[in-house]
Amino acid sequence: MATSAGASGASSKTEFDVIVIGAGPGGYVAAIRAAQLGASAAVIEKQYIGGTCLNVGCIPSKALLHIAEEYSKFKDLDTLGIVAEPPKFDMVKAVAYKTKVVKQLTGGVAALLKANGVTTFNGAGRVDEPGKVIVTAQNGAETTLRAKNIILAQGSVPIRPPFPGIDGKNVIFSTEALELTKVPDSLICIGGGVIAVEFACLFNALGSKVTIVEMLPSMIAYEEPEIVKYLEKSLKKRGAQIHLNTKVEAIADTPEGKVVTATGPNGPMSFTGEYVLVAVGRTANPEGIQGLIQHGLQMDRNKVVVDDHMRTNIPGIYAIGDLSGKTQLAHTAMTEGEIAAENCMGHDAVMDYTVIPRPVFTFPELASVGLTEAQAKEKDPQAKVGTFPWAANGKALASNDTEGMIKVILGRYGEILGASIAGPDAPNLIAEFALAMKGELTATEIINTVHAHPTFSEALREAVLAAEQRAVHIYQRK
Ligand code: NAD
Repeated sequence: MATSAGASGASSKTEFDVIVIGAGPGGYVAAIRAAQLGASAAVIEKQYIGGTCLNVGCIPSKALLHIAEEYSKFKDLDTLGIVAEPPKFDMVKAVAYKTKVVKQLTGGVAALLKANGVTTFNGAGRVDEPGKVIVTAQNGAETTLRAKNIILAQGSVPIRPPFPGIDGKNVIFSTEALELTKVPDSLICIGGGVIAVEFACLFNALGSKVTIVEMLPSMIAYEEPEIVKYLEKSLKKRGAQIHLNTKVEAIADTPEGKVVTATGPNGPMSFTGEYVLVAVGRTANPEGIQGLIQHGLQMDRNKVVVDDHMRTNIPGIYAIGDLSGKTQLAHTAMTEGEIAAENCMGHDAVMDYTVIPRPVFTFPELASVGLTEAQAKEKDPQAKVGTFPWAANGKALASNDTEGMIKVILGRYGEILGASIAGPDAPNLIAEFALAMKGELTATEIINTVHAHPTFSEALREAVLAAEQRAVHIYQRK
């Protein structure tokens, strides 16, 4: 029978097959998978079931982005023949909606853990040696638990750069950005990575004057440049300012507001705004494993080193998610959680990092899988590239959603080496290419699969046709 217990020992059970530390997307999935395989499983969580992703990351940001998208649609209604009064926006109600979504989802996960017979301990987990976990409750009470297998899933925390002014008023990180009770008049985003661009799109759509300051020559620098350009163009069209090759060095208070100082391509620069969002990356959170580290746990700076079975160098200790930090994506953590749980239960499961979709929830949405064109051409100079613009897709035209394109790269045997999408429903659509890659399908199978008309999915097939120089809905010069 399932139990939920405080570390003070509301559950009398202290011996398990598998104990998971951290109930984020990696940890709770690992615990459920272990239970499905017949393990007596426990999960230790000090703050909130669902971790960063469900509580202060992916899910709440998607709830607010959904609201911002709906709100911004009103600008285009006139084009569609709908005459409406300009809408008003209430940030307090929007945040309440976001909180309701989070509660519903985290409540669902707690119920799933219980239904699967997983015991939940509320408290901070500490592992000083293999086989033993100490849970410290908020009131300081300690409970000792034992398990043959321990899965570490403590996640990550935002990097706090050591700038002067980082602790000042109105300097926020992603967690605080989700709790604002008013839309900032202006927002300076330090960093042009995934978190910054998602919040930039969110607050730009709600009316903030947004400035992005990124030290590299591109936002989301590891993604396909052509796809990122669409986002850059779109943000600029909507009034956002983007400064690339510009490294932030300090934040200060002035009577005009926050001032961010930086070194740009032509020397010193400064930006003034009401709020500063700091999003310069996240770092693994090796909390509660100092004892194990002393015991010889292999680390790479603060990340736990694992093999493709999610095993650390200490038998019986596994690590997953942002703590081992291969991609810092919730869906990677979830899959790693399943792999670790299966291996704890005697299986031989191997993690494959070659096919991991990379979604970015911006306006327009972006998503990629596999290699970029430059990476693919390095591997195979003969690689073929096909692109297809949304403007040539009937469903996109009908939906007034034609910004962006699809790009697909084929290897010499027609295999999919990579794909990137900017535009409608990109994070959902990329799944077709991910499945094709994982299943080792080639261009032929995608072309021979009938895609429903009129749908966005037809455009994926057209991009593959384009790579084979036979697109139907764009003219390709011979
Ligand atoms: P990031 O690594 O994606 O981006 C940080 C950016 O800050 C980099 O481009 C870096 O060059 C820049 N930067 C660092 N120091 C700077 C400085 N002094 N001045 C100017 N620019 C500077 O990190 P993030 O956006 O904080 O996101 C953290 C992690 O969370 C990422 O790994 C990401 O994968 C994950 N995440 C994913 C999603 C998603 O999948 N949609 C959404 C949010 C977060």
